Amino acid sequence: MLEKDGVNMRLLIRETDAAFMNTLRRLIIAEVPCMAIDDVVIIENSSVLHDEIIAHRLGLIPLKTDLDSYNLPEECPCKSEFGCPLCRVTLTLDVEAKEGTQVVYSGDLVSENPDIVPVSDKIPIVKLAKEQKLRLEAYARLGKGKKHAKWQPVSMCTYKYLPKIKIDSKRCDACGECVEICPRRVLAKNGDKIEVRNLMACTLCQDCMDACPQNPSAIEVSWDDSAFIFNIESTGVLPPERIISEALKILDKQLNELVSQVKVAKIEKD
Ligand code: SF4
Ligand code: SF4
Ligand SMILES: [Zn+2]
Repeated sequence: MLEKDGVNMRLLIRETDAAFMNTLRRLIIAEVPCMAIDDVVIIENSSVLHDEIIAHRLGLIPLKTDLDSYNLPEECPCKSEFGCPLCRVTLTLDVEAKEGTQVVYSGDLVSENPDIVPVSDKIPIVKLAKEQKLRLEAYARLGKGKKHAKWQPVSMCTYKYLPKIKIDSKRCDACGECVEICPRRVLAKNGDKIEVRNLMACTLCQDCMDACPQNPSAIEVSWDDSAFIFNIESTGVLPPERIISEALKILDKQLNELVSQVKVAKIEKD
């Protein structure tokens, strides 16, 4: 673990390959479920925005998710199109601009479950002029990013190779050109030596190699193709470590499914 806070996590993952890293990234983006508003019943809307635009905006508000208490609608025993308390959360909104112009915020949504609420109260939905009203009922469900981006639990999920930087001290005259050109301030001059100060920030652009007056360059930037820096930024719906562990559970499930399908195919062939 290189860094971690409530929504960001940066990991150094060793002894793997790009195929595994990309699998993890794609599972996180497309398969790890989270809650989002999926159906909206507009009771009254005298704002300037059409019902559809308001429904779309509501869908994109990230909601804190409880994966342990809710089922995906397609896996819920209720098998109902409308859902049940195990696969659906109802949120209501009732705002009237009585005094003057008023902005309706995500914080105005009232949820039947205090654990399933917008991650931020300050997401604007619509601005009402005096006497305009917005009243609606919204239904949130678990879903997956592969169906709609509103169910993507992350705003960013990337990986890069672990950089390797070698400086040939015999040929380096500490001219400082590489330090100056580096856009990420990876290198620093210490007396008559060049030091690598912040290896993790290196983007492998190799500008430092091009800038080096020595021929061939006294600095060499390459990467370890079995080690990766993995960055994940949650939208706030789930903690980043939970998103990663869910992705790994899904990978296990998918691989088990693949093994059983292969066995079935083999038996049929025999
Ligand atoms: S490769 Fe780019 S980011 Fe990395 S040290 Fe060189 S100039 Fe800086
Ligand atoms: S540009 Fe080349 S010679 Fe100059 S400090 Fe960097 S590595 Fe050394
Ligand atoms: Zn249900």
